[in-house]
Amino acid sequence: MTPKEQWAEISTTMQNKTKEDVLGQIVAPALGDNSGIDEEKLREPLYYDGSVVRCFCFDCGTSTELLQDGAEHLAKLSGAETPASWENFYFVSQGCVVCNKDYKNVILKEIK
Ligand SMILES: [Zn+2]
Repeated sequence: MTPKEQWAEISTTMQNKTKEDVLGQIVAPALGDNSGIDEEKLREPLYYDGSVVRCFCFDCGTSTELLQDGAEHLAKLSGAETPASWENFYFVSQGCVVCNKDYKNVILKEIK
């Protein structure tokens, strides 16, 4: 399977599960095998229609995309003001819907 096909399959598998999630979080492909954040990848356009910002989970190493509602929720958790535009921002957290944990230590970060 090519990475693109793999991506499509993961998306299809996860979509039904995550659509109902109250956070409005959508699962996107992992940024890579390393647990670090690849800022080049963070600059890529978001994959899903309606998603506004990414969240990277340090616990499971998965990058997810958030809808507006989910993004505002995480902004509250992080204690940050909701930015006028999500462009150039991303969240990091410990725990997310993928690893089935509560979001902890959420931080809103700027892509530099
Ligand atoms: Zn996670």
